[in-house]
Amino acid sequence: MTENVSPTIATVCSHTSLQIFDGARKEGFRTLGICLGAPPKFYDAFPGAKPDEFFSVASYQEIIEKSPELIEKNVIIIPHGSFVEYLGASNFARLDIPSFGNKRVLEWESDRTMEREWLTSAGIPMPVEYNSPDEIDRPVIVKYHGAKGGRGFFIAKNRAEFEEQIDDTQEYAIQEFVLGSRYYLHFFYSPLRDGGYRVGDGTLELHGIDRRVEANIDELYKIGASSGIDPSFVVTGNLPLVLRESLLPKVFELGERVVARSIELFGGMTGPFCLETICTDTLEFKVFEVSARIVAGTNLFISGSPYSDLIEPRLSTGKRIAQEIKLAIEMGRLGDVVS
Ligand code: AMP
Repeated sequence: MTENVSPTIATVCSHTSLQIFDGARKEGFRTLGICLGAPPKFYDAFPGAKPDEFFSVASYQEIIEKSPELIEKNVIIIPHGSFVEYLGASNFARLDIPSFGNKRVLEWESDRTMEREWLTSAGIPMPVEYNSPDEIDRPVIVKYHGAKGGRGFFIAKNRAEFEEQIDDTQEYAIQEFVLGSRYYLHFFYSPLRDGGYRVGDGTLELHGIDRRVEANIDELYKIGASSGIDPSFVVTGNLPLVLRESLLPKVFELGERVVARSIELFGGMTGPFCLETICTDTLEFKVFEVSARIVAGTNLFISGSPYSDLIEPRLSTGKRIAQEIKLAIEMGRLGDVVS
């Protein structure tokens, strides 16, 4: 990657691509959209977010084969949830194309055991995990490994309910079901910026908060808990949220611990990450997942959020990513934010 020629910001045409392209353009970058087959028509409806160039592939795996062409085009890839999922975490980690963020986070995030080790050793409260159904002593949620968008997850209040519902041909985890309000906290860690909320040698920012809308669990109350219908947790959209202001110190403490520990374990996380939390009625947060990249909930805040507006008016996470790349180029430190 040459630092004197402005790179092109590239991502897969899905997930958070609209705000990534919009933000990159606002910061003066060229943009490239990687698409399956013909360029998706819906971009014509959003001129501000239509990439300058499309790069068609027959399958996502072809991105690997065509990586020399993308390198030739001097792109920096912005990974998002769908990008990493379509390609597979291990393929993504091996990709030669310069990519925003620290690829080493992938091995810690994509392995449930390593993720738990990272977070608990950082002092982050997590839901209890059970090694065997014999240990179930309270309501639990059972999660199949690699399940997309919560599909197939179920709740069991005891061992009998677990046995009734389990599909043991799949790998699963049994986790304490935490009752409370869900908050998905959108953080951004900059190892480059001065000022702000300091963590390590960088700055921790809170860009927004959302909650995922899930079918059918969110609406189950309408027909009553005794309806006999099994709850499902399939993500269909996102709602914006703000927290009680008095809870913000706790939220920053969570973000700070996760970042500080990531620096010790694997050289740190750079850029956007999300802590998926449940706040209980005793106002304690439990973190059930970390996503170490831009999450779809940030799409709510393409023109800023009640939090990011206080950093810079109308700041989206997509725009902030472009700013970080620009700052890194100016400082001659692209290697600190791209891997
Ligand atoms: P996940 O795939 O881990 O993001 O989980 C999908 C959904 O399942 C979440 O959005 C929550 O609604 C629910 N969920 C996951 N873990 C827990 C938990 N430990 N307690 C209560 N609900 C959970």
